[in-house]
Amino acid sequence: MSIIVNHVDHIYNPGTVFEKKALCDVTFSVENGEYIGLVGRTGSGKSTLVMHLNGLMKPTSGGIFYDGADIASEGYDLRELRGKVGVVFQYPEHQLFEEDVFADVCFGPRNLGLDKSEVEIRAYEALKAVGIRDEQLYVSPFDISGGEKRRVAIAGVLAMKPEVLVLDEPCAGLDPAGRDEILAIADYLHDNLGITVIIVSHSMDDLAEHVHRILVMNDGQLVMDGSAREVFGHRDELESIGLAVPEVTAILSDLKKAGLPVRDDLITVEEARDEILRVFGK
Ligand code: ADP
Repeated sequence: MSIIVNHVDHIYNPGTVFEKKALCDVTFSVENGEYIGLVGRTGSGKSTLVMHLNGLMKPTSGGIFYDGADIASEGYDLRELRGKVGVVFQYPEHQLFEEDVFADVCFGPRNLGLDKSEVEIRAYEALKAVGIRDEQLYVSPFDISGGEKRRVAIAGVLAMKPEVLVLDEPCAGLDPAGRDEILAIADYLHDNLGITVIIVSHSMDDLAEHVHRILVMNDGQLVMDGSAREVFGHRDELESIGLAVPEVTAILSDLKKAGLPVRDDLITVEEARDEILRVFGK
């Protein structure tokens, strides 16, 4: 699996008073097995970009190539692409509608035209992967907790066996425990199932300890692309585009500014603790 996004522009409502350039010369590629965070404040173009990755939108100019093929070319099978690039949109639990959890997750793979047993195997495996218990399979999706609803919705996309899974603001509206649970599932899908995972978020704290690479969008442009450590090293630049570095990184950088000889490119609480203890000779 590989995706190449090559000099992509996207203009909404071209030629009208509502014309808006939402993507501007965006170029990057995604390799198989990557774990990526896509960040930017609201309106920076993240959702527009995601909808290009599975062919829901077409570039105004430039191209998207999946495994080397231009997805805007004539005859390209967009339905198949949408099976390969699964997108879990924000608040996906609003789209649960079948009478029980299992039936809901069967919906996607059944639409792929698979036979009944394959549909059910996939649905069951997907529900297991997101930690839904057997006794919850035949419960109404409206009678489970908020975090469970979201997990069921993720399973619905997972059951299509995507090569790439995009989670758009997967932690929105969840409490810290629910947030950790969803991010642990994202880790599991990446680490154990080998799925290429892209998490869209406006929160660096959500991403810091999970993804391996961060893409930063601002005003339709891709302004940074690097490891979490590299990206968080640009605190002032990030703050100037409305993004905060993780709290841990901010604290270390404040300590450094105050004269303490600490590294300020650390991103996890454990790393920060060890660094502060080191400086104090402990
Ligand atoms: P994000 O996901 O980062 O919040 P979006 O991709 O939703 O950003 O939006 C990027 C820009 O495009 C914003 O200025 C937004 O107002 C604009 N936009 C999004 N959808 C439409 C649309 N359907 N018509 C016109 N403008 C849009």
